[in-house]
Amino acid sequence: MTLTDPQISDFKEKLISEREQLSRTKESVFHSDIDRIDLRVERPSNSDENKRSGAVEKEIALEHHVLESLAAIDLALARIKSDDYGVCVDCSVDIPYQRLYAFPAAARCVDCKLKYEKLNIP
Ligand SMILES: [Zn+2]
Repeated sequence: MTLTDPQISDFKEKLISEREQLSRTKESVFHSDIDRIDLRVERPSNSDENKRSGAVEKEIALEHHVLESLAAIDLALARIKSDDYGVCVDCSVDIPYQRLYAFPAAARCVDCKLKYEKLNIP
């Protein structure tokens, strides 16, 4: 691995602050769940119902994104602890500094990420 200790602690700080932000987002998504239940009791018209299910879908997508990002960050923090950080989990090459800088939770190099996405997105 080519990262220096100060670089790694920079990334660690970024990951931790990103994690805090995501936790807050997760909480706000949770609170809007409660609003949704309140709204249902009002027996809205069909057109309102349609609008609402679109909003619910967006929330579910956001929730999914938040949970996935949190999992990626936890994994990255665990890899910092075990000295595996910055190495692609699939092909074991060093992930370029620029890529980690843009996305500190990256667990794969760009090539492997593209392959992984092709396999996992229908
Ligand atoms: Zn790779």
